[in-house]
Amino acid sequence: MKYFKQLLFISLLFSLSLLAQNPEDFHKKLLTLDSHTDTPLMLGNEGFDFGSWNNPDEGGGRIDLARMEEGGLDAVFFAVFIGQGKRSEEGNLKAKMSADAIFDNIEATINANAANISLATSPADARRNAITGKKSIFIGIENGYPIGNDLRLIENYYQKGARYITLCHSKNNDICDSSTDSTEHHGLSKFGEEVINEMNRLGMMIDVSHISDEAFFDVMKLSKAPVIASHSNARDICKHPRNLTDDMMLELKKNGGVVQVCVLSAYVKNQAPNPEKERAVEELRIKYNNFTDISEDQMKLARQEWRAIERKYKGELASVSDLVDHIDHIVQLIGIDHVGFGSDFDGGGELSDCKDVSQLGNITSELVNRGYSPDDIQKFWSGNFLRVFSKVESLRTN
Ligand SMILES: [Zn+2]
Repeated sequence: MKYFKQLLFISLLFSLSLLAQNPEDFHKKLLTLDSHTDTPLMLGNEGFDFGSWNNPDEGGGRIDLARMEEGGLDAVFFAVFIGQGKRSEEGNLKAKMSADAIFDNIEATINANAANISLATSPADARRNAITGKKSIFIGIENGYPIGNDLRLIENYYQKGARYITLCHSKNNDICDSSTDSTEHHGLSKFGEEVINEMNRLGMMIDVSHISDEAFFDVMKLSKAPVIASHSNARDICKHPRNLTDDMMLELKKNGGVVQVCVLSAYVKNQAPNPEKERAVEELRIKYNNFTDISEDQMKLARQEWRAIERKYKGELASVSDLVDHIDHIVQLIGIDHVGFGSDFDGGGELSDCKDVSQLGNITSELVNRGYSPDDIQKFWSGNFLRVFSKVESLRTN
């Protein structure tokens, strides 16, 4: 531990001198972590090879090994994302099977690139892999739907390597209400309360992104451990229900948690209403059964059609400067210790000057321009998130 601290001190001094010379080299020296990507959606695609360079303009997604190297990203959370479907025994079972298939895809990708990447399940793993030059792949589950009504499945997913669960996605589930659906439970359900207790017991991070405001405050009351918002911005700057209000962030500061800002333009900058696009997306959802319970081939078609809609109705992309406005706001409100980064790449994340992982250095440059210190910038890129992660681990009760 002492050795590690000395190393950290020396590297910080080194960073200071690098920063004076060249922000790009400084960025590469940081330990960087992205807490939310939907890259597993890419893993089954023909022509996509995570281990090499893929063209983002030809359906090659936003993240691969070559571009992680280019953009200086050391650690990334892959989301096991399950769209909300029927809340029945059959629906829950199908959600679990879909989740298991995604875990298998992630495992296969890691095995195929074992020389360069490694599954990580703790802050220590991220630090060790960074030293040995390997990229860390962490796993989070986006939507608690595959747990169904079976608390024991939380431990099952923990053992498979998942270290957070985003309690819900864009629709309500049996755990809680979503920020983009009607009011059903008025926050957490009874089962949702048990989920929080079980996640605390296991030392698994609770992700409050996507959940309703009432559910957020319920979690704040109940959780004994700090929480993360793996990909959310400030609602004061961009009025999307997915973003956190100032009141929510003040509560999150008391909880010791962290808001991980994302680059999805609709959550970064207020967009002009686009009812035509909304209608097209809604029709697509209906056509493909809300992307659940459909065959692999149908899922591929659904993704192609989704991309076509995105291209046709592309709204105005926000910029890195717009993103850093969120960081400034959060820092002014709750301090530098409660903000980090969770891109939402491959789930819609894209800025005009940060289109994929290769361009992450632009965020560091903007932070440098706005006067953030090397220490602050390191906190943003992983220090805060890893602090919360360690705390959650340490509160595990058995
Ligand atoms: Zn999401």
